[in-house]
Amino acid sequence: MAEKINTSQQEQLALAAQWLAEANHVAVFTGAGVSKESGIPTFRDAQTGLWANYSPEDLASRPGFLKNPRMVWEWYDSRRNKVWDVEPNDGHRALVALEKWIETQPGKQFTLITQNIDNLHQRAGSRNVLELHGNIFRYKCLDQNHPYRIPEGPLAEDAELPPRCEWCDSMVRPDVVWFGEMLPDDILPQSYQVAREADVMLVIGTSCVVYPAADIPVTAKKFGRRLIEINPEESALSPMVDLLLKGPSAVLLRSLQNEFLETVVG
Ligand code: NAD
Repeated sequence: MAEKINTSQQEQLALAAQWLAEANHVAVFTGAGVSKESGIPTFRDAQTGLWANYSPEDLASRPGFLKNPRMVWEWYDSRRNKVWDVEPNDGHRALVALEKWIETQPGKQFTLITQNIDNLHQRAGSRNVLELHGNIFRYKCLDQNHPYRIPEGPLAEDAELPPRCEWCDSMVRPDVVWFGEMLPDDILPQSYQVAREADVMLVIGTSCVVYPAADIPVTAKKFGRRLIEINPEESALSPMVDLLLKGPSAVLLRSLQNEFLETVVG
């Protein structure tokens, strides 16, 4: 059933749209919740069936991979297939519309920082995306981070899994940030810079408990930037946001898109 927007929420949306319209630099910070309405389970939700007996650390860490590389490869394969089968939702699409409009305005800037690895923002059409935790559709080798491209088409039945790097023969892994690993050393400083510079940050579908990523909106706040949060639940960030829009992001972002359009073109 479609979620209803009540009057006070409508007022909040109008205020959020006004802040976005006034901003010279709009930043967006997303987490797993933005993909929920596309049918992508959160990390823990995904540990069902075959995978129910494994901890996140078994499936998403370097020690876990070294202990059982084939099993970890297959877990990522199953997640990749799941993501491949779904479509971006209205929330992803509203962010594309916002970016496109802002891009056409002289001197204005839009940056989307995501903790998601599902590529759905890019598939929807978002262009200026900073991926803090990598991308499940990219691969690199374990020892030296050499990029690796999976051959197109089905793998041979007897193919070695995980595949081996053509350059150094180490095992190939998904190019995502695992537990205990550093975030990409180019993306993290760029994200902090955006947090310091953007006038407003929309924080969508994240519990804001995974660090250092969760420090990005906190930094924006420290620098006096406005924070607008969209989440059906309160998060660790909620006490410090300027506006909390409570509800699912596909619904609320679509409404925000309409409100923004009214604000900028009347
Ligand atoms: P999280 O699972 O900790 O929190 C999800 C948040 O989304 C919660 O605050 C929840 O209330 C909110 N939410 C639930 N339904 C929503 C909806 N319909 N609309 C908006 N918000 C909704 O996710 P996190 O904060 O992103 O941190 C988990 C980590 O796991 C991240 O590092 C991320 O990289 C990774 N992860 C990524 C994906 C993905 O790529 N889609 C999926 C699962 C986990």
